Amino acid sequence: MTQIATRCVQAGYAPGNGEPRQIPIVQSTTFKYDTSERMGQLFDLEAEGYFYTRLQNPTNDAVAAKICALEGGSAAMLTSSGQAANFFSVFNIAQSGDHVVACSTIYGGSYNLLAHTMAKMGLETTFVSPTCSDEELEAAFRPNTKAVFGETIANPALAVLDIERFAAAAHAHGVPLIVDNTFPTPVNCRPIEWGADIVTHSTTKYMDGHGCGVGGAIVDSGNFDWMANAERFPGLTTPDESYHGIVYAERFGRAGAFITKATSQLMRDFGSIQSPQNAFYLNLGLESLHVRMPQHCANGQAVAQFLQSNPKVASVRYPGLPDDEFHALAQKYLPNGSCGVVSFEVAGGRAEAERFMAALRLFAIETHVADARSCCLHPASSTHRQMSDEELVAAGISPSMVRLSCGLEAGEDLVADLDQALASV
Ligand code: PLP
Repeated sequence: MTQIATRCVQAGYAPGNGEPRQIPIVQSTTFKYDTSERMGQLFDLEAEGYFYTRLQNPTNDAVAAKICALEGGSAAMLTSSGQAANFFSVFNIAQSGDHVVACSTIYGGSYNLLAHTMAKMGLETTFVSPTCSDEELEAAFRPNTKAVFGETIANPALAVLDIERFAAAAHAHGVPLIVDNTFPTPVNCRPIEWGADIVTHSTTKYMDGHGCGVGGAIVDSGNFDWMANAERFPGLTTPDESYHGIVYAERFGRAGAFITKATSQLMRDFGSIQSPQNAFYLNLGLESLHVRMPQHCANGQAVAQFLQSNPKVASVRYPGLPDDEFHALAQKYLPNGSCGVVSFEVAGGRAEAERFMAALRLFAIETHVADARSCCLHPASSTHRQMSDEELVAAGISPSMVRLSCGLEAGEDLVADLDQALASV
């Protein structure tokens, strides 16, 4: 296999003689056939091809194939958002009456999805700390557990997942480990190499990298043996009556069953497809991902070190800092760097954090991370503003916590901006 840099630039699309060098945007909802019989073969999953962009589109498939190559998977698909990717990754193998084990530090949107929306669908989740003991992790499993879910680097807690440990626990219970790899991207970590079975992304973040299009992706490793755990995963191992009794794990094997089912059932029924135009923009981002990630990480490291030395800062979280709680795990799983997101507490409280935010010039206030342009968020005055200081602390969020996303600007300029804003506090 080629190096990651070459895959970022070239994987997924190989034009033939005289064909466009850039991935064509197939801006068509539908595809034409000469006979109904030929189209019928597609509906029966007997032939490969396209019939309706709610399920599949050639532009999306080329970009999904690139992300698949980057993660070292066997099959992949794009979704309309990271939320849709995480929803599909779980709902493809779990349903009403089932149970999931998830890390408590996962992104708030993923937490809401599992704790509230999927709970209303009859699917229960037990949350465990990423630093829980082996006994606590073991106690979270139930006979109806269908998956373990975590984030390589949690947003915004910046906790690093011990992927090997969580994969071993999942496999001991005959279920796959699903890892959201949005923050490090496959440039800095490839969870499948450490035992993860399914990898998801909010491509809205570093993969796009320019704040251009919302999107998501799911990659299957092809390693999980659904047939060996057939009773636990009837959706993959028993006939699908909505597809003429097809048994996905038999027909498509380990390499193709998961993504084929997610495409032909979930995409068909929920229609959470990424637009081909957005897939094209996403591919432009992917072409420079390996060049951009080191700069995001260098800026994150410089900013974290500066903040740690500033008396107006109460605490800093960044896995690249030697005394960070997750530094040892970062050295193992993220030896080339983690990401550009840094969380810290302004000394004082909510009011001091608000003054600091107002004084920033280069870091823009946004509900976003992982962009070429640096941005920041003060949860207590934005996403969590309805909460009192006491409620914030109970939710694990300090009233003076600020989340910074270091972009691609010069690190010295970012540090200077933080320095002048802290001086005003
Ligand atoms: N996963 C992580 C780690 C995220 O940070 C986000 C969004 O911030 C999501 C998933 C959801 O992605 P999207 O906003 O593309 O739906």
